[in-house]
Amino acid sequence: MHYDHILIRYGELALKGKNKNQFITQLQRNIQQALKHYPDIRVKRSQGRMFIELNGQGPEPIMKQCKKVFGIYSLSLALKVENEESSIKEGALFALTGSPNAKTFKVSVRRVNKGFPIRSQEMNRILGAHLLKNTSIYTVNVHEPDVEIKVEIREKATYIMSTVVRGAGGLPVGTGGKSLLLLSGGIDSPVAGYLMMKRGVQLEMVHFHSPPFTSERAKQKVLDLTKTLTEFGGSINVHLIPFTTLQQEIFKSMPERYAMTIMRRVMLTISEKICHEKNILSLTTGESLGQVASQTLASMNAINEVTNLPVLRPLVALDKEEIITHSKRIGTYDISIRPYEDCCTIFVPKSPATNPKREIIHELEKKVDFTPFMNEAIAKKETIKIVHNVQSDHFDELL
Ligand code: ATP
Ligand code: MG
Repeated sequence: MHYDHILIRYGELALKGKNKNQFITQLQRNIQQALKHYPDIRVKRSQGRMFIELNGQGPEPIMKQCKKVFGIYSLSLALKVENEESSIKEGALFALTGSPNAKTFKVSVRRVNKGFPIRSQEMNRILGAHLLKNTSIYTVNVHEPDVEIKVEIREKATYIMSTVVRGAGGLPVGTGGKSLLLLSGGIDSPVAGYLMMKRGVQLEMVHFHSPPFTSERAKQKVLDLTKTLTEFGGSINVHLIPFTTLQQEIFKSMPERYAMTIMRRVMLTISEKICHEKNILSLTTGESLGQVASQTLASMNAINEVTNLPVLRPLVALDKEEIITHSKRIGTYDISIRPYEDCCTIFVPKSPATNPKREIIHELEKKVDFTPFMNEAIAKKETIKIVHNVQSDHFDELL
């Protein structure tokens, strides 16, 4: 006897009335996609659960992939047996005796198949008695058992489990529309991207770089960050925008105090154009309130003026420490701290305005028209598609 299935629970989805079916279909597709390196493995769904038949494949690598799929609430290794009292007894005994270090247990039967002749409570008693009779080291503890033997009696078969592992939670990527993430090489924006993916949002990236002031390795950093995020869902397009000329024009013609704000406005304007082109309905940034001079509410107000699209800022209320904790956990931290120059760190003004005024910006922007430079930058956009590659995964375990 051995565990031959993985049972998948998707808690939050149950709440989503009308869209439920679309969510479940997407989740099934995403799990199947995460397991694309196992062509023989199929994900099946039935009565509020999903099942993976292992077909002799070791469970650990499959579990590891599944633990990164948003929308999964928890997972269990399961033993499938026939809907017969004797088989269920045998299976429960296997599950209990295979639990390392357990001294106390509890049996929890769920009878999904109401056609099964023995009711859950009665079945709990029968199995508890069977386990006590056939072992000598275990006792029952219904409140704090070392191991809970879960038994799900379903339409065609019964599944027996002794462990429950937490899944990534959230919603399946692809059910929440698309957002364009402004991805720098820093710590924050990849975390912002991760959190949006967790809400079911599919990402594309835009990155502004300033060669030769920023190096190839700085660009590689952004591609590597994106690659890490693909571990949580499919493939992601990265749009690279050459920003050197624009930055030079801005810093040449605008007062130093306002150059940073105007540069951000230009970034957002270009990003919005990419959204229109790609049919994307929102932008995401890694901004966090008060973190630096350029991230005050006045600054956000001044920058945000150029676009009508929602600008999502999932980190807005987080402390730097919290952001760093996230970034270490999802595997982007070590990439983010590589010491290559970012376009914003090169042209950084000594004292940017912390309280920029829209009226002043309007006056300043009347003097120079950046549109031709923006159009040129967009025309020179380079797009790279990053596909999830299991072999190079480095994410280990969601806490
Ligand atoms: P991060 O750690 O994400 O770089 P930060 O704390 O350094 O953020 P800023 O430099 O003020 O903050 O940037 C704020 C946000 O603007 C970033 O989180 C990112 O979304 C966007 N951004 C900054 N620089 C770039 C860039 N070169 N390309 C694309 N987006 C950028
Ligand atoms: Mg930065």
